[in-house]
Amino acid sequence: MALSVFDLFSVGIGPSSSHTVGPMRAANRFAAQLRASGVLPRVRGLRVDLFGSLAATGRGHGTLTAVLLGLEGVDPETVLPEEIERALSRIDGEGQLQLADGAGAVGSEAQSPITVPFREADIVLRPLTVLPTHTNGMRFGVTDAEGELLVEETYFSVGGGFIVREGAEAQVQDRLESTLAVLPFPFTTGAELLRYSSETGLSFAELMLENEKALRPEVEVRDGLCHIWDVMEACKNSALTRTGVLPGGLNVRRRAPEWHRRLTAQDPYRDPQYWQEWINLVALAVNEENASGGRVVTAPTNGAAGIIPAVLFYATHYAPGAVAWSEAERRTAISDFLLTAGAVGVLYKEQASISGAEVGCQGEVGSASSMAAAGLAQVLGGTPEQVENAAEIAMEHNLGLTCDPIGGLVQIPCIERNAIAASKAVNAAKMALMGDGSHHVSLDDVIVTMRETGRDMSEKYKETAMGGLAVSVSVGIVEC
Ligand code: SF4
Repeated sequence: MALSVFDLFSVGIGPSSSHTVGPMRAANRFAAQLRASGVLPRVRGLRVDLFGSLAATGRGHGTLTAVLLGLEGVDPETVLPEEIERALSRIDGEGQLQLADGAGAVGSEAQSPITVPFREADIVLRPLTVLPTHTNGMRFGVTDAEGELLVEETYFSVGGGFIVREGAEAQVQDRLESTLAVLPFPFTTGAELLRYSSETGLSFAELMLENEKALRPEVEVRDGLCHIWDVMEACKNSALTRTGVLPGGLNVRRRAPEWHRRLTAQDPYRDPQYWQEWINLVALAVNEENASGGRVVTAPTNGAAGIIPAVLFYATHYAPGAVAWSEAERRTAISDFLLTAGAVGVLYKEQASISGAEVGCQGEVGSASSMAAAGLAQVLGGTPEQVENAAEIAMEHNLGLTCDPIGGLVQIPCIERNAIAASKAVNAAKMALMGDGSHHVSLDDVIVTMRETGRDMSEKYKETAMGGLAVSVSVGIVEC
């Protein structure tokens, strides 16, 4: 379910929204449930099964540690990377978990956490078993002192940090329908967005804002969007201070600080001829931060987290007149960009998927590129038809993009791919603005095509690290 811009842009930790943020949320939810139901004091044992893609690339994506921390009550939106390090070394040293500890266990009452023994073998990886609902499945079970099963629940991480509990699919659908009912402009297709625009004269950004205002006050919406941009900026800035290699054993060197130093020397006055180098840098920096488990904005996923910050950087630095914008004008441009990108993101979430494990990288990087193109076309003054066209062009030329991360790490090809997709988004927006908005393939057509292409794609190319670059390139993983 994604009807709010804040569903699509949420703050979390890297390296993956579906394999890190989602599993942490699911484990946290399960632990909170144990506490709320009063079962917690009887728990003495724990077992976790990870299925399909979560098991295949979970180690490289940090799924195992995310699950442990979630079970302790850690929340991906608030946890600091340094707290993660501390908690993991404590669990490792003591060989036990503090189940449902801390305020992260939503709905908890004041109860002490329960200490349960934990060994690595308590997390069982089942890469060849794909549960019917979704490939990113995880099952949590707890036992009592006699080893009897007390509670068992299965969750699915369905992309972008969204989770669904098995058996609760109907509730999610109900929630979706009841939320749609309160929105002034309920939409799930591009055709509906265009129709509302033509009936009201409102842009996509304004339509999305009206919907957001039905859920929270306008000032909260605007402040929230600026906060999202601040976190994106902080994420990029943090990466610029870090050197060395990224974690995971692939020995991928962090390039952002060196590129930043060279680019600043080359282009001290932000000459527009260097726009591409700058957006490459922003995308690279954000994705390096994500790959190292840092704080990022899921946009709409972590693997694709660098594209929207890079294109929004372009909008705020290179849009005509941007250098002279007042603070209020800058905030409006940021809101308009993110609201438009969010409206397009809703279309992908509702009609197709933003999960690499479901439809390949076209669903992650492709969707982000399309959302960014729409946001930029909006800020550059595009009509609703041109904005829709920009989103369509960007996805059309990402169709078929596979997910084949080397070593199951969100590093190669992911980091550079974000930079390439950001440039593609800028180009798509520019191409759309050169036209009058009329075009052959509608955005809805291309979204459905992406979904069907994803269905036809071999599982080898859906975040399993069993095909493509992941098997063609021989690189040793150095255990660290
Ligand atoms: S290849 Fe694309 S979908 Fe796969 S992990 Fe990398 S960014 Fe995500």
